[in-house]
Amino acid sequence: MIIFGTSSSAIPPEKLNGGYCPYCKAENKMWIQGYRKYFHIFWIPFLPLWKKVYSVCSHCKGVFEKQEFQCQKLIISFENIEHNKTKVLWYHFTGIIIVTVLLILIFITPFFTKSNI
Ligand SMILES: [Zn+2]
Repeated sequence: MIIFGTSSSAIPPEKLNGGYCPYCKAENKMWIQGYRKYFHIFWIPFLPLWKKVYSVCSHCKGVFEKQEFQCQKLIISFENIEHNKTKVLWYHFTGIIIVTVLLILIFITPFFTKSNI
């Protein structure tokens, strides 16, 4: 039974503006997509680790890294979406939030319980 490890969540695909495919040269057919890795305990996400973003051509189905792009317009569009639309997801901190709330409850509980002395 695996109680901790890494998992990933998909970054939804988004169309890149302009540019052409480095392989088939098809115009305006490139999409950006990827995934974000996170550390989990009992399938509850605790900490985001890293993201992997790549580009897919909808014409030839080729998968390309940013370094393979030859078109400057495509590089700018890729970087714009990569930096603005692939942010860290709040629910990747769910485990840390749960542990923090539990610790706060443990520390404040003695102040609200009545002593019978
Ligand atoms: Zn292509």
